[in-house]
Amino acid sequence: MTDRVEDETATRIGIVGAGAAGVGAAYALRDADAAVTVVEKSGGVCGRAATRRKNGCRYDHGANYLKDADRRTEALLYELGDDGLAEIEEPVWTFDGDGEISPGDGRDSRKFTWTEGITQLAKRLLDRTDATVHRRTRIEAIEREVEGVAGGEWTLVDADGERHGPFDALLLTPPAPQTAALLRATEWEDDRLGQLVEAVEAVPYRTIRTVVLHYPFCESRPWYGLVDADREHAVGWLSREECKAGHVPDGESLLIAQMSPAWSEERYDDPLGDVADDVADRVARLLGDERYRDPDWVDDQGWRYALPDAAVDREATERVADAGLYVAGDWVVGEGRVPEALWNGHDVGERIAADLS
Ligand SMILES: Cc1cc2nc3c(=O)[nH]c(=O)nc-3n(C[C@H](O)[C@H](O)[C@H](O)COP(=O)(O)OP(=O)(O)OC[C@H]3O[C@@H](n4cnc5c(N)ncnc54)[C@H](O)[C@@H]3O)c2cc1C
Repeated sequence: MTDRVEDETATRIGIVGAGAAGVGAAYALRDADAAVTVVEKSGGVCGRAATRRKNGCRYDHGANYLKDADRRTEALLYELGDDGLAEIEEPVWTFDGDGEISPGDGRDSRKFTWTEGITQLAKRLLDRTDATVHRRTRIEAIEREVEGVAGGEWTLVDADGERHGPFDALLLTPPAPQTAALLRATEWEDDRLGQLVEAVEAVPYRTIRTVVLHYPFCESRPWYGLVDADREHAVGWLSREECKAGHVPDGESLLIAQMSPAWSEERYDDPLGDVADDVADRVARLLGDERYRDPDWVDDQGWRYALPDAAVDREATERVADAGLYVAGDWVVGEGRVPEALWNGHDVGERIAADLS
């Protein structure tokens, strides 16, 4: 991940967003004759696959782990180096609307993170590229220059008014509503733009508020995570971060409670102090143990656009590709999973290389 030496002949590619899709694309382009620039609004990389450090603990408070559905993800993880790769051994169990816990169906796939957190995925992928990465850079507008240039060029304008580009190809990877906002702020006189905005805006999302509960004791349990199979409980997901090597000091426990979309929408803006008691109370009832009512510290994160519930209309996204405009992300596939976003970004990266060559 270094500043690439200016190469006048290389194709210039701009990527907005350093989540799994954006870095997947940069990784796919690592051997192409291309100067790749990634712009990311946050201070860190990996987007909704996020890790935080607090009070000696490390926890993945967005995506919990990477599940290997098709073997190629697992192969890639080992390719990125198995030092610090942490497999979660304990299974995921289920509970129902009444809080009745039962073992899962045993079809659990292998689950991975890293001792240093799930953000290692983006860090390790980017380390293997020459991409220039600008963090803390929020893109607010896009310009299209056509005159005198075969095919046209794209320029990004950030929140400080600084310009990035021009790029021969532009890849947008923020969640659909944020990509739609960028497209609305795009100067490009072309009917395809309006159709694309409409298609991207139509992607529905679920909201999740993650509440983190820490305890100065640790209980041994047969599961790593519990998922609300009926989608009726206010707690949608509960997991034990201490099952991940290197995340929680011995003798402590850190629970990740991902609240249901209904609960999360209703209480999205309530102060953490107000909601933590409610969440701890629900967790204590679910686990049948009064001690969980009293965490010694708490934390939270709201994910307004947590998970897409459908895929974008691919016809609308295909129509703009010959203008050098591309999109990638979990919402393009229609499934909120890190590997889906990663491989979609990877496929689009390969496609860009092929289209431009
Ligand atoms: C609470 C929660 C739990 C989850 N659990 C799991 C799980 O256990 N396993 C799993 O596989 N998946 C899980 N997911 C889903 C998974 O996190 C996502 O599907 C995946 O991370 C999406 O990657 P992406 O690259 O498409 O988008 P993102 O990760 O959202 O990346 C987009 C990036 O664009 C940046 N960006 C946005 N706007 C701008 C702008 N204007 N300028 C510059 N940068 C911008 C963002 O900061 C972000 O880094 C979970 C998600 C949430 C929220």
